[in-house]
Parts: sequence; structure tokens; C-alpha cells
Amino acid sequence: MKPVIHWFRQDLRLSDNPALVHAVKSGQPVICLYVLDDETPGDWAMGGASRWWLYHSLAALDARLRQTGGGLILRRGEAAKSIQDVIRETGANAIAWNRCYEPFAVARDKALKAELSAQGIAVESCNGALLAEPWEIKTGGGTPFKVYTPFWKALRAQIEPAASLRAPAKMAFHPGVKSDTLKSWKLLPDKPDWSKGFDGTPGEKGAHDALYDFFDHIGGYGTARDIPGTEGTSRLSPHLHFGEISPRQVWHAVRAREASPDGEKFLAEIGWREFNHQLLFHHPHLPTHAYDERFAKMKWRQNDKDFTAWTRGRTGVPIVDAGMRQLWQTGWMHNRVRMIVASFLIKHLLIDWRHGQRWFWDTLVDADLANNAANWQWVAGSGADASPFFRIFNPVLQGGKFDPAGTYVRRFCPELTAVPDKFIHRPWEAPEPPANYPAPIVDLAAGRDRALAAFRALPSR
Ligand SMILES: Cc1cc2nc3c(=O)[nH]c(=O)nc-3n(C[C@H](O)[C@H](O)[C@H](O)COP(=O)(O)OP(=O)(O)OC[C@H]3O[C@@H](n4cnc5c(N)ncnc54)[C@H](O)[C@@H]3O)c2cc1C
Repeated sequence: MKPVIHWFRQDLRLSDNPALVHAVKSGQPVICLYVLDDETPGDWAMGGASRWWLYHSLAALDARLRQTGGGLILRRGEAAKSIQDVIRETGANAIAWNRCYEPFAVARDKALKAELSAQGIAVESCNGALLAEPWEIKTGGGTPFKVYTPFWKALRAQIEPAASLRAPAKMAFHPGVKSDTLKSWKLLPDKPDWSKGFDGTPGEKGAHDALYDFFDHIGGYGTARDIPGTEGTSRLSPHLHFGEISPRQVWHAVRAREASPDGEKFLAEIGWREFNHQLLFHHPHLPTHAYDERFAKMKWRQNDKDFTAWTRGRTGVPIVDAGMRQLWQTGWMHNRVRMIVASFLIKHLLIDWRHGQRWFWDTLVDADLANNAANWQWVAGSGADASPFFRIFNPVLQGGKFDPAGTYVRRFCPELTAVPDKFIHRPWEAPEPPANYPAPIVDLAAGRDRALAAFRALPSR
């Protein structure tokens, strides 16, 4: 019998995988394929930290497939070409995949579907990554939503996620397909190996463990989620990005266990993920162009020294430095601190949000085109339903409010260990400022005034 290909992409799991279930149900032997395609994404080829996560996630998926008598076939190169190669080599007559929503993925998949269909190959694409397709939820006027709250309300009213699918109990694999070795892809960083402190356990089991660990402290999420010094959030973001768990599985697990305001608040964050994906789908230039076109005229500063200090966590502003060091050391940063460091870069340093977005792209294990672009634009004030530009986070006050005892700051900036709590977020005012910690690279009040002046110079609507 001719084989069917399941093309794994951002769905690195066996359970609740609609395209995989479709392929297995055909009764044909399956080829489980993953293609490392660095060509199609152009500027958005996967960053360094994501590659580390991908390596371990693929290893975990391969191990699971081996338990069921098969394994993962790895190919590298332009995906459309690699798939044609596998079809030619194996005689496969069908392929299934779960949809991705990055503009380059949408264009590639559309062209590939047309090409394969014309060749007589059966193509099935499914929704395995979102609660609702980006084109499903519309305003009364039939247009995509621009504001989050009515979007989430409409999604909740219109969509009742179907039950999650079980992992296929049995799979027949097509034998003898050539595969690269995972090691040969050199996904792990060396020179330097900055991944030693990376957090999280990539893979489907790691994803479910993270969710169930989170259930131990989901009560209180509404407030704990803003405290970076505690484990107040789920840490599901890389698992969701790589599709090691589906939002539908998260939805049902939360609904079954936690019908409380904390559970609802948590699901509302999953709602932001949905909102951002539909934004990117309808506004494919979101990672490169201001959604609010007035911001195209913004006079950004070009200052490599300040930008480097920001990336290294050497700005002299403790909550900013702790966040940037958490990112570098662990591949992840707390959401509250992401907002603070982004605001500091865009507003106090007046550096273009696209530079920050790019740094995050390379250093986050959860780097996600939709979530990264939409959130950077949200902080910049140029996004959809964004925080207004003139609302400028004061990092000293933010630190005092969300890390009052300096637990988080001291964890990542040990130079500040001996600074009294009173001065932990403004060590430059301490009676004895630590000698090995930099003075602030910008005067916070002057930086704020400069940002407001640049903003006022923009054309009004
Ligand atoms: C400047 C900036 C850049 C960001 N870049 C990314 C990115 O590249 N990838 C990414 O997944 N998230 C990004 N976020 C959103 C958010 O910070 C992370 O999703 C969150 O910190 C992940 O931690 P968690 O899984 O413990 O979150 P939880 O609080 O446990 O939330 C559960 C899930 O909801 C989703 N979620 C939570 N907050 C947001 C949000 N603001 N926007 C979209 N989805 C959200 C995530 O999928 C998350 O895993 C960014 C935020 C900012 C301010």
C-alpha cells in the first residue's frame, strides 16, 4: 500500500493531533516527517534558543514514535522540495499537516497544496494550533476584531472546542525512508554554549507535566501571575508554540478542574494568544510595520552602546537588568518583566521596538512570530488595542510594586545582594551603591520626557 505523510511542524505531539489522526485513519503506512526549513521563513528562520528547544522536542517525539515501532524522518531544506523528494522516493500519495499562521507558512502551504493536488496527491490540512481559525471570529460587520475583549467574548460565544483526540493507539510505519540524524543539524548552541541554564522540559510529556504542576498553584493565578519572584504562571509558552500540547487540551483540562476566576483569567491569556494569531493572519506585516501607521514617522534613536547594555542586562536599572539576564540565562522571561524591559527600550532609550523584537526572537525558547510582534507593538503603543504610548512604565515603581523585597532582582543581579530593600530598585540612591553595578545609562525622568516629546511630534490621527 502507498504511504501517507504526516508532516510535523508546530504540532510536536501525538495526542490531539487532528492531521496525524487523519493520516493514521487512512489505514496506509505512515511517514512521520519533520523538515528543518530555514529558507522559506527568510528573516524569521528559527532563533538560537528556539533551536535548542526544537532539538530536545524532536528527540522526545522520535523516542515516542520509536516506542510505537516507528520513528521520525528528518530532512533539511526548503520544505516544498523536501516533501517532493520524499514523495518521489516512497510513492506516497497523500499528506496531512496542521496549519501554521505565519505569513510565509501560509503562502508556502497554499502553493504546495495547489502543486500537490495537481499531481494527484491527496492533501489534508487541519486546525491543531488554535481554538478558532483566524477567519472564523468576526465582528457584527464581518471584519476581523481590533480589540481583544470583544474578540474573546465572541470566540467564547461562538466556539465550544471539540473534545481532544487521543493519540493513535496503533500506527503502521512505512519502512526504509532515509533520514538525517538530529545531531547533524547542529541545533544546540556552542561557542558559547549559553543553553546550560535553560529552563523547561521540551516534549509532549514535559508539556503535560508543566500543566499539571501549574494546577497545584492555579488558585491565586490572577495576582501571582504578576510577581516575577514566584512561580505564578504555567510556563506553557514554548510547549504551546511548538505544539507539544494544544490549546484545546489546555482548555478542557482547565475547564474540568478550575471553574474559578483564576481559571478564567488563565484561559483569557490563552485568548491573547488567539487574538495575536488572528492579528498576524490579517496583518502579515505586523512584525515589520507599525499597525498604527502614525508610528511609521517615529524618530527612533540609533545607539548601539545603549542597545548592547540593554541586551547584556547592564543598564543600571535593576528590574530591567534582572529581566534581560533571566532571558539570556534561562531562555525565558516573566511576562510582567517583558513589558518592563520592552517599555524601557522603546521609551526611556527611544530605540525602535523592532530591535527588541529581534533580540527576543533569538533568545526566547518560546519565540513566536504572532505573540512577539503583537506584544512589542502593544508596548510601543502602535499595536491593536495597545497600551497608549504616553503610559510609560517607571521601572523603579514597577519593581517596588511587583518585586517589593527584591527577590527576583537579587536572583539575577547578585551584585545587588547587599543593597537594602529600600534601595533595591534604585541602588544609585543607596548610601553605598555597589561598586560593581553600573550607574543608570539614562536619567529616567529625562528619558521619559524625551519619549513623550518624540510621541507628540507624530501626526495626529
Ligand atoms: C514584549 C513581549 C514579547 C513577548 N513575546 C512572546 C513570544 O515570542 N512568545 C510567546 O509565547 N509569548 C510572548 N509574550 C507573551 C508572554 O510574555 C508569554 O506568553 C508568557 O510570559 C509565557 O509565560 P507562561 O506560559 O508562564 O504564561 P501564562 O501566564 O501561564 O499564560 C498561559 C499562556 O497564555 C499565553 N499568553 C500569556 N500571556 C500572553 C500574551 N501577553 N500574549 C500572548 N499570549 C499570551 C501563552 O501561550 C502562555 O503560555 C511576549 C510578551 C511581551 C510583553
